[in-house]
Amino acid sequence: MRKIKNIPNIVLNNGISQPLVGYGTYKVGYVPPSASGSKGVAKGKADDAENIVRDALVSGYRFLDCAQFYGNEAAVGRAIERSKVSRSKLFLASKIWCDNIYKGPEAIREQVKRTCKDLKTTYLDLYLIHWPVPGKHVQAYKTLEKLVDEGTIRSIGFSNYTIEDYEELKREGIRVKPVVNQIEVNPFLHRKRTIAYFQKREGIVIQAYRGLRQGKHLNHPLLMELSEKYEKSPAQIMGRFVVQCGVVYITKSIKVSRMVENADIFDFEMDEKDMSRLSQLTTSKNLDDFRSLYLKCIVRDTP
Ligand code: NDP
Repeated sequence: MRKIKNIPNIVLNNGISQPLVGYGTYKVGYVPPSASGSKGVAKGKADDAENIVRDALVSGYRFLDCAQFYGNEAAVGRAIERSKVSRSKLFLASKIWCDNIYKGPEAIREQVKRTCKDLKTTYLDLYLIHWPVPGKHVQAYKTLEKLVDEGTIRSIGFSNYTIEDYEELKREGIRVKPVVNQIEVNPFLHRKRTIAYFQKREGIVIQAYRGLRQGKHLNHPLLMELSEKYEKSPAQIMGRFVVQCGVVYITKSIKVSRMVENADIFDFEMDEKDMSRLSQLTTSKNLDDFRSLYLKCIVRDTP
C-alpha cells in the first residue's frame, strides 16, 4: 500500500500538538438520515467504515475526525484496534450533535461515554460542539469544561461558530479556552474575516472541513491551470490552499490512492498571486448559501 510522507504538526493554544492533516469519517460507510441531500433516509452500512478507516490509518493518517452524527464510531473503533496503531500516536476528535446539545448536560455526558466506548479509548484528544444550538450551546460548552477537569477530554472547541457565537460564549464567562473552530474552508468559501478573527485575534486554530468542496469543482479552469503550473492534482491545489492559509485540513476519501494523494501537499508552495486568485472564487452567492445552511443546521434534529 502507498504511504503518506510525514504530516507536520501544529501546536494548539493549550500546548497540545495535532497533525496538520486529518482523516474525516463523515459519509464513510454510512450516510445519516438527516444529512444534507439524504431526504430522511439513511444510506449505507456503518460497518463498512471499518475497512476504509483501517486503510486510512495504515496509509499514515493519525488524526481522525469523528462525530456522534456520523453514526459510524463503533466501526472506527474496530478499525483503530485492527490497525495496531498505539493510542498515544493517535489524535482522536469527536463532536456532540444538536439533539444532545438541546437535551442538556446529562445527554452530553452519556454521549461522550458512548463515543469513548465505541472508539475504545479512555480519553478524547479533542471534543467539539458540532453546531451552536441557540439557547443551548453555552451550557453544552460548560459541560465540556467539566469533562476536561475530569480528564475525559484533553482539549475542547467548537465547529461552525460565527464570531457572534463565540462572543456569546465569552460573555457567559467560560473557563477553558477553546483550541479549535472547525468550519468549511476552501477557495469557494473563504471567509477571511472570520478566519483572521479566530486565528490571529483569539489564537484559536481553524480546522477546515469540505476543503475539496465535496469534489464538485475539481475541473474548474483555475484549478486545472494551477494543477499544470505546480505539477500537482486539482485536489492537491485545494488542500495546499487550506494549509497555506494556516488552517488544519480534514480530508475524506474512501479510496486509498486519494487518501495518499490528499495528504501529499507539503512539497510545493503557491505564490501570493495564485493564493489570491483562488480566494476570489468565493462569490456572494456562496456566502448567502452558507448563511442559509448555517440557519438550518443550528436547529437540525432539535424540536
Ligand atoms: P470534502 O470536500 O473533503 O470532499 C469529499 C468528496 O471528495 C468525496 O466525495 C470524495 O469521494 C471526493 N474526493 C476526495 N479526494 C478526492 C480526490 N483526490 N480527487 C477527487 N475527488 C476526491 O468533503 P467532506 O464533506 O467529506 O469533508 C471532509 C471531512 O470534514 C468529513 O469527512 C468530516 O470529517 C468533516 N466535516 C465536518 C463538518 C462539520 O460540520 N463540522 C461538515 C462536513 C464535513 P471519494 O470518497 O469517493 O473519494
